[in-house]
Amino acid sequence: MPTFPIVIVGAGEAGISAAEALRACGYQDRILLLSDETCLPYQRPPLSKECLQQVGSVGIPIKADDWFAAQGIDLLNGAIGLEVFPEDHLLQFLCEGSLQTLRYQKLILATGTRARRFEAETPCRYLRTLQDSSQIRRDLEDAESVAIIGGGVIGLEVAAASRGLGKAVEVYEVGPRLMARAFPEPISQVISDLHETHGVRLHLGVENLVINQRCVSLGGVPIEADLFVAGIGATPNFEIAETAGCSIDDGIIVDGQGQTNLPAIYAAGDVARIWHPTIDAHIRIETWQHAQRHGAHVGRAVLARQPDYAVLPWFWTDQFGVNFQTVGFPGLADTTFSTRNSTTERATYIHMRDDRLIAATTVNNGRDIRPLSELISRRWSGDVESILSAKVPLKALVQEFSKI
Ligand SMILES: Cc1cc2nc3c(=O)[nH]c(=O)nc-3n(C[C@H](O)[C@H](O)[C@H](O)COP(=O)(O)OP(=O)(O)OC[C@H]3O[C@@H](n4cnc5c(N)ncnc54)[C@H](O)[C@@H]3O)c2cc1C
Repeated sequence: MPTFPIVIVGAGEAGISAAEALRACGYQDRILLLSDETCLPYQRPPLSKECLQQVGSVGIPIKADDWFAAQGIDLLNGAIGLEVFPEDHLLQFLCEGSLQTLRYQKLILATGTRARRFEAETPCRYLRTLQDSSQIRRDLEDAESVAIIGGGVIGLEVAAASRGLGKAVEVYEVGPRLMARAFPEPISQVISDLHETHGVRLHLGVENLVINQRCVSLGGVPIEADLFVAGIGATPNFEIAETAGCSIDDGIIVDGQGQTNLPAIYAAGDVARIWHPTIDAHIRIETWQHAQRHGAHVGRAVLARQPDYAVLPWFWTDQFGVNFQTVGFPGLADTTFSTRNSTTERATYIHMRDDRLIAATTVNNGRDIRPLSELISRRWSGDVESILSAKVPLKALVQEFSKI
């Protein structure tokens, strides 16, 4: 009986971590990693940070060139997964213009997301790939003014990088505040203040923003800028999962093992809507660390049942030299408090849902993230004052709580 390969579609953080975990668990048969990109897989977070500092950045590879061969992982670049026939365990893909079919033993879909675009063809740039980043950086050479559409993490990191290069930058956000998906209101305010201090002009709540083929206009008045960059969210690449008959809901729905509704098909990373036991709900998480951890978890789960995935989402962004980190589920919070020892330079915020600690954010204070993660994972609830007024470091406080 031949052993068919484990096939992974998508060679981002999630796909590569899955392959790495398979090997780390002692899996010895063939692993095939399909990538529709043509370069060595690279990290995405630097694309809106370091890579915008200078023209010609080559990005930071996820793994060195020789790692794949050393691990015995067949990385097939320029291979686009098209269709899955689950009854026969067949995957059809396009490589160098030819349509090919292969049989898989298990299939992991780690196809990530793509930048959401405006429906009409617009003069906007988007940022998802190394190519996008290089293009924006080249455009910045000639541009004096930059209009950013969308006040989320990508838009704001591009805004910060553009200001750093001395450009006039304006940010247009439809919602009433910045980074609303990632942070509760008080943090949005900190970020707004930071950008305004550095000379970014913010336009919030711009519901009358219109983008058509010729121009971007606000209330009928065209916006003048040499360069438009849109960061308006991401769309999960679940089309291939649809062909298989996987359950989809803004992402591929998976259980705590990363398994879809189909027996031999799994999904990992940005594209997966995972079951998270901390909130007893499905959620899709678009962060770098999650893609790695979830990818590795799914790689292990393909070989043997694992405890359900329960890692808390953790995310960071760097803007104008200020580091923001958040852990947990800030979107579910109803109240935010800052801890007593917060200052204008360093701050820690905790986010509560009723009396339960659901998330935490630090500003230049990343050391508080780990102990607060512990508390969130343990579903800490109680009198918030005991955290806010802590005279001891949070780490010591967590040790106290764990004795209870
Ligand atoms: C500019 C930018 C900045 C970011 N900054 C941060 C940050 O500061 N902090 C943070 O936590 N996160 C950040 N992120 C998010 C983080 O990078 C992603 O969450 C993470 O890279 C997702 O990894 P993934 O492997 O799930 O998906 P991806 O990285 O999207 O990888 C999926 C791969 O699959 C390929 N693919 C798709 N469909 C097919 C197909 N049919 N056949 C073959 N291949 C296919 C895609 O082309 C891609 O190469 C940032 C993202 C971007 C774009």
